[in-house]
Amino acid sequence: MAHALRLAEHGLYTTQPNPRVGCVIAHGDEVVGTGFHRRAGEPHAEVFALREAGERARGATAYVTLEPCAHHGRTPPCADVLVAAGVGRVVIAAEDPFPQVNGHGIGKLRAAGIAVERGLMREAARELNCGFFSRIERGRPFVRVKLAMSLDGRTALASGESKWITGAAARADVQRWRARSSAILSGSGTVLADDPQLTVRLPDDKEFLLPLRVVLDRQLRTPAGSHVLDGSAPTLLLHGAAASCNDDRFARVERVALAMHGDLLDLRAVLALLAGRGCNEVHVEAGPTLCGALFAAGLVDELLLYVAPLLLGDSARPLLRLPPLGEMARCWQLRMVDQRMLGADWRLQLRPA
Ligand SMILES: [Zn+2]
Repeated sequence: MAHALRLAEHGLYTTQPNPRVGCVIAHGDEVVGTGFHRRAGEPHAEVFALREAGERARGATAYVTLEPCAHHGRTPPCADVLVAAGVGRVVIAAEDPFPQVNGHGIGKLRAAGIAVERGLMREAARELNCGFFSRIERGRPFVRVKLAMSLDGRTALASGESKWITGAAARADVQRWRARSSAILSGSGTVLADDPQLTVRLPDDKEFLLPLRVVLDRQLRTPAGSHVLDGSAPTLLLHGAAASCNDDRFARVERVALAMHGDLLDLRAVLALLAGRGCNEVHVEAGPTLCGALFAAGLVDELLLYVAPLLLGDSARPLLRLPPLGEMARCWQLRMVDQRMLGADWRLQLRPA
């Protein structure tokens, strides 16, 4: 199953909205077929592995990181294909919560007399598809907020100057997190201050799907000529219903009006809309107001925090704007999932405790 999970990771940048899935067919220790899902619309992992195994699939064990599908989508059901190939046993890491599959894949296999085991490395399999599981089970994407700060928790000088807080290794790392995401979310404040491209830059040999650029711009303040309006990537601009625009600034992007929640767009509605469009992981690169609002609403699943070994002083801008706490016991408690050095910087990966 560890081998199958490594295979599944080959689809990290390309399977969305589908999950990343790997499959290994083996007789005991001898692997006779391997496969992974690469792209929506193309065959699933099981099909590639069975093709490679050929006649040797008969009586073999299939290790699959996600419950084989049971429905006719763009490809025939993998449960049927496994039955037809005559495998003797199927080991599944995680059950598929997708309503048309959930339990039906396992049911089909068992009905055909195949032994099915499940739960082997389930946590790792769910982790690899944290966004897919979040979208199907909770109706919203997995939200990962990326922030870069100085040792004293500041993100930019008071003037707004913030370029190059972190080094090249950290910035290259950010591109990989963007690439695995279905959408990159930002706010109009960041667009006005930094004019980011919100695209992905990876080495040439890496294949990826361009994430949807999503800009929360309740008053339609995004100025003409901004990179996010240039049509170089699919872009969705979300604004308040009362905002209007009389020029053609937004000709190359899609605009959708959403309800307001206080001073901000309704963030739950934003995430529900993105889930409805098949977004699994959403990567947030925004300022302290939007990031703070996501935190305060309990909508952040992971904080990706780059810490540069420099000090900016207390006049520089803070990391997050959060409501004041009456008592220490009410602070936002996080737990560290991973910590590592990237060049001279630290990368901390944190999740709500
Ligand atoms: Zn399938």
